[in-house]
Amino acid sequence: MLHPIESSAPGAVAARRSPSGAVPQQHDHLDDNPWHTGAACRSDEAGLFFAPSKEPTAARLAREEQAKRVCARCPVLLECREHALAQPEPYGVWGGLTAAERRVVLSRRRRRDGELREVRRVGVERRIAG
Ligand code: SF4
Repeated sequence: MLHPIESSAPGAVAARRSPSGAVPQQHDHLDDNPWHTGAACRSDEAGLFFAPSKEPTAARLAREEQAKRVCARCPVLLECREHALAQPEPYGVWGGLTAAERRVVLSRRRRRDGELREVRRVGVERRIAG
């Protein structure tokens, strides 16, 4: 059985959704990224990182916690997390974060970037006004 980290190309998760909308059961990772070779989830059970269809909430929370425990001992957690944020990966646990948690991180980053742009803009205006 292929593990999440070995199943296919990055970014192909959504494309692999079934017509019924079911999400994949494995990470998409069959590319040249060197960080994949160190992934802790290469040797873990497939299916831990993605929700089966119609998964009850309590089961999802328990499964996500299990996946996060694997991520917590993973030597490439940060690389994986940044990959998932950059894609962005819409489903599954990546880099110790669920999809909802990644959306929060991305939202915070966008807000921070907006604030930094505003600080720079005000600084430039003050220099010009001089
Ligand atoms: S951080 Fe988690 S999902 Fe990412 S490679 Fe490591 S074990 Fe797999």
